[in-house]
Amino acid sequence: MDCQQREAKIRELAEAYAERLRQVWPEGDADITEIEEIAERVGAETSRDFTEELVRKQAEAEPLRKTACPHCAGPTHYKSRYEQEVVTALGRVRVRRAYYYCAACQTGSCPLDRQWGLGAGNTTPTVQARVAVLGAWVPYTRVPQVTRQIGMAWCLDVKTSELLTQRVGAALRQSPAAPLGPAERSVAVAVDGVFLLTRREGWKEARCAVVYEPDGDASRTPEDCTGLHKEYFGGLADRETVLARACDRAKSRQNPGASVAALGDGAHWIWEGYARHLPERVEILDFYHACQHLARVAHARHPADADAAATWLSEQRHELRHIGPWRLLRELQAWEPRGKGSTAARKVRAEETGYFTRNLERMDYPRYARSGLPIGSGAVEGACKHLVTARFKQAGMRWGIETAEPLIHLRAALLTNPELDLRSYAQAGTIH
Ligand SMILES: [Zn+2]
Repeated sequence: MDCQQREAKIRELAEAYAERLRQVWPEGDADITEIEEIAERVGAETSRDFTEELVRKQAEAEPLRKTACPHCAGPTHYKSRYEQEVVTALGRVRVRRAYYYCAACQTGSCPLDRQWGLGAGNTTPTVQARVAVLGAWVPYTRVPQVTRQIGMAWCLDVKTSELLTQRVGAALRQSPAAPLGPAERSVAVAVDGVFLLTRREGWKEARCAVVYEPDGDASRTPEDCTGLHKEYFGGLADRETVLARACDRAKSRQNPGASVAALGDGAHWIWEGYARHLPERVEILDFYHACQHLARVAHARHPADADAAATWLSEQRHELRHIGPWRLLRELQAWEPRGKGSTAARKVRAEETGYFTRNLERMDYPRYARSGLPIGSGAVEGACKHLVTARFKQAGMRWGIETAEPLIHLRAALLTNPELDLRSYAQAGTIH
């Protein structure tokens, strides 16, 4: 298209725009809702015209060429221009693009589709990226409805929405988004598991991890959490690699001279994993889990006196938080249960003495607090909820392990970086 033709086209589009405005310009005062409606409609029609003009032109001007079959790489021959609806961000556009046929495979293909990165449902990368964002946050069955309600110029069916979301997630699983930069202070890593219901294998544990920069002063507003530079990791099929991936990230973000805090709730696989993947670490047992064990001791010491149990518990929590576990452990060892219920109490004493002895080095809470390290694994429990529970554990949901996996990766990427541009992942996941 030369300069003159382009000018003519611009004038044509501008005139169509002016004509629309003349038709819809309200007489007198329109209310705000009417104004918005009119503006949106005219804007959408005009941008759609513009998109259609350029997209169609490109398809019609596409030179015929020798193309290789995408399946067997053999020669193809040109059949005709083939009309197809392409779903663009501005709506559906019918285009006629060159169609080539491979006699060996008995299949046809349109090279322009590949060049444009069209995915399932003939969607452009922008549409794919937007569907994926919706599919990441809301159930697939709701995606068409939400798309319509928020006024998108396109709407896809449930199956296509699901397929596109999974393609983007699979591309992210294959090549994860760029990691966050090095930490300004200490780094903490926390890992946890959460069960979700699968179709074939019943309840199955997904694993979640979060790597972040703890800040004792940060409140829990989303803005303050941004300052923690949280990175999310998760997996169901990939669950064995979640901890290793998180530890690698923690190591690469570690500030020389600052510690990596490794938090756990007491589950053995977590400590064993840290030992394998994070040679230099400060292991911290979640304070609230430790307190649950204290509560068990409190009830065993004062089985018939709830007030006395509560007082003991409150004193020992304070002791554990501000002094540490050592006097507490000595007290536990010196405790001699007597009278009614003493057999049960001795069992509690034996188990909890074992628990506090095993975890003694992970309960130096006063030191952690002084060094600006977290004492609770609330961050990862939140991560489990955000990453998995909120999307995967809704009424009636059952998951295939391989279809859940890309969605976890997609959600982890979006929780880590809400601004992440998914268009390049959309193209990477394109099918033909
Ligand atoms: Zn072929």
